Amino acid sequence: MRGVGKQHFAAAFAQALLCAQPAPDGQACRACRPCLLFRAGTHPDYQKITPVEEGKSILIDQIRELNASLAFKSHGEGYKIAALWPADRMNASAANALLKTLEEPSAHTLLMLITSRPAALPATVRSRCQRMNFTLPPADLALPWLSERLGITHDAAQLLALADGAPLKAITLAHNGMPLHRAAMLEDLDGLQRGLADPVSRAAAWVEWGATDCVEWLFGFIADMIRLKSASHHPRLKNCDLDVQLQRISQRTELSVLYRHLERTQDALRLLSTQVNAQSLLEDALIGWAVDTAAVSSQPA
Ligand SMILES: [Zn+2]
Repeated sequence: MRGVGKQHFAAAFAQALLCAQPAPDGQACRACRPCLLFRAGTHPDYQKITPVEEGKSILIDQIRELNASLAFKSHGEGYKIAALWPADRMNASAANALLKTLEEPSAHTLLMLITSRPAALPATVRSRCQRMNFTLPPADLALPWLSERLGITHDAAQLLALADGAPLKAITLAHNGMPLHRAAMLEDLDGLQRGLADPVSRAAAWVEWGATDCVEWLFGFIADMIRLKSASHHPRLKNCDLDVQLQRISQRTELSVLYRHLERTQDALRLLSTQVNAQSLLEDALIGWAVDTAAVSSQPA
């Protein structure tokens, strides 16, 4: 589950462990020297391991460096902590290199592997970790929290719904323009179906908007269209604000085609988390959509 605060929790937990005078409830004091170093990002006993470049893997050299530094004693008297995020981005050799440290960490060492896709971690890594699941906060907690942060310029309830209830994801949506791009994406699906849009240039636009986000929305659109075609009464849609557009496209598309594209979209999401070229992956998806839905759409709209 993305956008529920796993990274924030990991950072707060690490800071609390490193804090010289934690509060009675266990939270960091935010004022001592270790806390100040932590907040400045310079605490010598805390490391955050992420891909060097966005969308790329965590590499074996990064893990080797981590292993070496964890072999030393901590600078303070306490813990040495490393947070790996997203842990599922370790490539196979990096994951292998981490195994020994995971199995026999030196004293007072804490490794936190943060991921929204735990199944993507090798079983050998998972079996050496203690798993902690993060679930969605209830809406009556999340909504006031979100409204307070977004102010009146945003529709917090709608954003929370679009984010599947994940409040931090809703905040990202409020700032990245994705709610607006959704309508344009549906126009693209409509245009591609009717032979009026060019899949290559549309794929380029989708890459610009964020390939993974777009493919996730595409999945949601197709799932909504399947709901529209399968239900006898009007179903509850995730993208209820785009109801009219979704109905128009789904009416022209066969159910079997929608199911096939739902599956393809799921494959695309999995591939996007590897080193695949996002532009050609989206081109394939949009060309496939145009070809598979064209026959039916040659009938009048
Ligand atoms: Zn402190």
